[in-house]
Amino acid sequence: MDLPNIETYLRLDDIQTLTNWSADYAWLAGGTWLFSEPQTHLKTLIDIQTLGWSEIEVNEDYLIIGATCPLVKLLEYPWLPEWTAAEGLKSAVTALAASLKVINVATVGGNICLALSVGTLAPVMVALGAIYEIWNIKGESHQVAAKDFQIGSRQTILQPGEILRRVLIPLSHLQWKVNYQRFSIAATDPALVIVVTARNEQQINCVISASIAAPLLWRFDNVEAPNFAFLQKLNFITDAKASSDYRREVTVVLIKRTLQ
Ligand SMILES: Cc1cc2nc3c(=O)[nH]c(=O)nc-3n(C[C@H](O)[C@H](O)[C@H](O)COP(=O)(O)OP(=O)(O)OC[C@H]3O[C@@H](n4cnc5c(N)ncnc54)[C@H](O)[C@@H]3O)c2cc1C
Repeated sequence: MDLPNIETYLRLDDIQTLTNWSADYAWLAGGTWLFSEPQTHLKTLIDIQTLGWSEIEVNEDYLIIGATCPLVKLLEYPWLPEWTAAEGLKSAVTALAASLKVINVATVGGNICLALSVGTLAPVMVALGAIYEIWNIKGESHQVAAKDFQIGSRQTILQPGEILRRVLIPLSHLQWKVNYQRFSIAATDPALVIVVTARNEQQINCVISASIAAPLLWRFDNVEAPNFAFLQKLNFITDAKASSDYRREVTVVLIKRTLQ
């Protein structure tokens, strides 16, 4: 879609080239969402594809995924066989209600920062205990746990001028076993419910998403007889597709499936 209100398009080598930030600026990654609907509040797009951040690298401690990494790279990466959690990352890409054309262009950072309740990457990042590194235009950076990043539907903790730079997943967590469950009315619809579990010898992280505004991490004490009472306190989404009661019930079904 054309965005006729855009007056300025910037391609940067370094985000510190920007000396100020304005409410009508937006980072442009793959553009699959930005160009999919009118953005009447925007005048400037700042292309971050030229920053050279599309890497997937491994250091001594972490798997590091650059924010501009296209989603398709998660499907193509030569994962080591012992990195069982890679299946969860791949499921998050295939769970996107989108074509290969979109997956080739859409980025990891774009999906996480758009922060739709139906976001497909955030739940697996939360389940795997990922860390997000955030930069600002003054050259400062800080890290935040993935579970604390999205605070609502289309709401994150990012402040004006901040950008998600990269995602760090502890290497040991890549050996966790991940189960990714998604339910939608039609396969091509956005998810009504997503449940992701990541289990190791000590614990099972269970993340509920899509049926509530932002991913929620829950740890079950007793997997044999899980207590679902906590679900009564959550605000499940009601819309034209499904009621909150329906979403709650499907969430229970998917949690049971992941625990099995
Ligand atoms: C057919 C179709 C189906 C889709 N299905 C889904 C779906 O099931 N679930 C879902 O979540 N989305 C879906 N989307 C929406 C969107 O395409 C994806 O979320 C995609 O991953 C967004 O990535 P992008 O790189 O294209 O982001 P962009 O469109 O470039 O940006 C999205 C938003 O994130 C901001 N942003 C991008 N990168 C950063 C960064 N590094 N730091 C800070 N802010 C940043 C942008 O300013 C913008 O506000 C779908 C889109 C289409 C066209």
